[in-house]
Amino acid sequence: MSEEKKSLNFLEQIVEEDLAKGLDKHKLKFRFPPEPNGYLHIGHAASICLNFGLGIKYNAPVNLRFDDTNPSKEEQEYVDSIKKDIEWLGFKWEKELYASDYFQQLYEWAIELIKLGKAYVDDQSSEEIAQQKGTPTQPGVNSPYRDRSVEENLELFERMKKGEFPEGSHVLRAKIDMASPNMLMRDPIMYRVLKKAHHRTGNEWNIYPMYDWAHGESDYIEQISHSLCTLEFKPHRELYDWFLDQVYSNKNLRPKQREFARRNISYTVMSKRKLLQLVEEKIVDGWDDPRMPTISGLRRRGYTPESIKKFSEVAGIAKRDNVTDIALLEFFVRDQLNKIAPRVMAVLDPVKVIITNYPKGKEEWLEAENNPEDENAGSRQVPFSRELYIEREDFKEEANKKFFRLSLGNEVRLKNAYIIKAESVAKDANGTITEIHCTYDPLSKSGSGTEESKRKVKGTLHWVSIQHAVKAEVRLYDRLFLDEAPDGHKDKDFKEFINPNSLIVIENAYLEPSLQTAKPLDKFQFQRLGYFCVDTNSTSDKLIFNRTVPLRDTWAKIEQKN
Ligand code: ATP
Ligand code: MG
Repeated sequence: MSEEKKSLNFLEQIVEEDLAKGLDKHKLKFRFPPEPNGYLHIGHAASICLNFGLGIKYNAPVNLRFDDTNPSKEEQEYVDSIKKDIEWLGFKWEKELYASDYFQQLYEWAIELIKLGKAYVDDQSSEEIAQQKGTPTQPGVNSPYRDRSVEENLELFERMKKGEFPEGSHVLRAKIDMASPNMLMRDPIMYRVLKKAHHRTGNEWNIYPMYDWAHGESDYIEQISHSLCTLEFKPHRELYDWFLDQVYSNKNLRPKQREFARRNISYTVMSKRKLLQLVEEKIVDGWDDPRMPTISGLRRRGYTPESIKKFSEVAGIAKRDNVTDIALLEFFVRDQLNKIAPRVMAVLDPVKVIITNYPKGKEEWLEAENNPEDENAGSRQVPFSRELYIEREDFKEEANKKFFRLSLGNEVRLKNAYIIKAESVAKDANGTITEIHCTYDPLSKSGSGTEESKRKVKGTLHWVSIQHAVKAEVRLYDRLFLDEAPDGHKDKDFKEFINPNSLIVIENAYLEPSLQTAKPLDKFQFQRLGYFCVDTNSTSDKLIFNRTVPLRDTWAKIEQKN
């Protein structure tokens, strides 16, 4: 096997085999078929990267096909969000299409099937139909309506279409085999009566096709060469092929369904139904809440398209179900932000430092490198003055030798500035420290080239000048669930595992003034704290930052301890 062959995933191998067997390369065509009943999530990203990735690899078109056959759950808002997310990921579809574009064609084909005696109208309730289905080891029972005449079937189907029958009263079924070992082949339903307005076809239809009937035929109409779906559709493949047989003409290409494992990720849920519950019950702040595994949530959290695509590529396409560690996703965003995010200083839990030997009223603008990982990132100026904030946890009155931060009688460097030494503290009536009185070494300025500036001290702290600081709200996000597989418990609802501390809001954080002009979705490293992204609701009057990820994987540490 050549190097190149080895790195192909099994679906690419299938495509390669088809090409080797004579499939014309120009006939390759793929599709991504979301149902517009929710926002896209990181699982969909696997399918998007797979299908569009094949399109790029083989220079083949990829259609975006909305699988909009269930008007009771589908909305234009979801269509818009899906398009926005795919574009944001950086992919281009060939055509924007809708299964509903094919309602008329599907209807006409259904009439053909009736005429051929291969479909019939069943007047029974869904319960009765279910009872007759049998079990995988026991054949089903034929419906009493199975042998209706073609004329009667045509008339009833027409009346279903016109809306003469109430919902649940009639269905159109394919006449296949009530004894098939594949339960899906036991006269599956093709149409049901639904008197719902559709987001595109309005009130034109009173009957809507089922997924199995619509999907394969849509693939055929669009001449999709490889219809890739997730493993739960494997048993549907036989039906997919049966429906195709009914319309296929060998002048055309015959689509092929192949299945791959869903992307599952630890510490989250990924079904749209469950995500919708979180939204509707206001457990999160909408589909794009930064804790959601949705593409829009990840974007608002500060993820980049590159990090999501890299994750999808490395996590790969599998044949069998598996769970990917969420730490892998976090790794890729951290890795990319390390390369691109400008470094800035922000203090989240401030305590005041007064530099007693620094002149009152003096200010200095000090040079600060924007990103040591990127030599083109340049530098900026940060203001220094007599009164500063540092993090409360960066100071202890007395500390042991392992504490490399500030303590009484000891020195630290202030990042990009001077070496300071803590001399004394002031406290309020409760004993809480209100001020730390320090002295600074005027010759120790960073980058000044003096002997003192090169002096090594154990710790370096971030800080902001109080009079220059801008205030911001900072939101610290953590995993939304405390359990690795919140929806994997038979006896417990997934919502029982919600992490009560998944959002901590810091109302007043203090930032260096360069951040005043930061725009929504701008990304930064708050030095020593983590990567942060400007929230989509942030304005210059009220700045809001979301923590994307801490600098290190704190969860890995917690888990190691346990
Ligand atoms: P959900 O169960 O989350 O509601 P779905 O499968 O109903 O998802 P669709 O909109 O029908 O969502 O999915 C569009 C495409 O994305 C389908 O081809 C589906 O197989 C694929 N897909 C959905 N979820 C995942 C996942 N977790 N991993 C990989 N592919 C997925
Ligand atoms: Mg679906």
